[in-house]
Amino acid sequence: MQDTATVDCPFCGQSMELVLDTHLASQRFVTDCEVCCRPFEVTAECEAGDVLSVGVCGS
Ligand SMILES: [Zn+2]
Repeated sequence: MQDTATVDCPFCGQSMELVLDTHLASQRFVTDCEVCCRPFEVTAECEAGDVLSVGVCGS
């Protein structure tokens, strides 16, 4: 099952929607901001169809 979460780019502050696989209890991946094109790390905690928390970390 998939769910969406809204995060803010740590560089330019643009908010964007991410699609997360809620089958994964804990996940970490890198995505590129659509606006400033800089990569940032997303960490998400999920449980059975729900996104519990999402965090972003720029490097
Ligand atoms: Zn950005």
